[in-house]
Amino acid sequence: MKASKEVLMKKEILEKIEIRQGDITRLDVDAIVNAANTKLLGGGGVDGAIHRAAGPELLAECRTIGGCPTGEARITRGYNLPARHVIHTVGPVYSGKPQDSRLLTDCYLNSLTLAVANNLKTIAFPAISCGVYGYPLKEACKIAVDTSIEFIDRHPSLEKIIFIQFSEKDFEVYQDYIKSIS
Ligand code: ADP
Repeated sequence: MKASKEVLMKKEILEKIEIRQGDITRLDVDAIVNAANTKLLGGGGVDGAIHRAAGPELLAECRTIGGCPTGEARITRGYNLPARHVIHTVGPVYSGKPQDSRLLTDCYLNSLTLAVANNLKTIAFPAISCGVYGYPLKEACKIAVDTSIEFIDRHPSLEKIIFIQFSEKDFEVYQDYIKSIS
């Protein structure tokens, strides 16, 4: 009895997780997550794309926040984005040390916690730390998905978590991982 209930619960949780390929700035969700840096003043990669699409008001709001330590998260409005909010989180620069996975887990946990605290139902993540910050995608994908599954289990108000990858190769890594745990 217990085993079948667990399997059912996992199916319900997995149905709330979606893997996509594309540009995160185009998503109409309650919040997109930005792989920001500690200054929160914009940068390259997904951070630059989000600031360009949101417009200068996003930078103006970020300036009032005064930065964000690695592993933590801060929320702003989405301005010209289709997404209502941006959750800015600062991933670790990959060093190969155990603290990397702790900090990356914190990024997902703190972003999801902020989403729930603000009554948001749908959230989309890029592969935090997997660009310029050099985190190996397969390891980061496992952290992202495992942390999210555990979080959804404890916070059923969350309706959808999207993991969106720019490249087909990265998209396939996420798809393969989801298949391996389904
Ligand atoms: P970090 O500095 O945390 O490594 P990057 O922005 O360099 O952040 O890269 C994080 C991930 O975001 C990479 O996998 C990169 O391919 C991806 N990415 C870049 N632009 C976009 C975009 N517009 N939509 C979705 N993902 C993106």
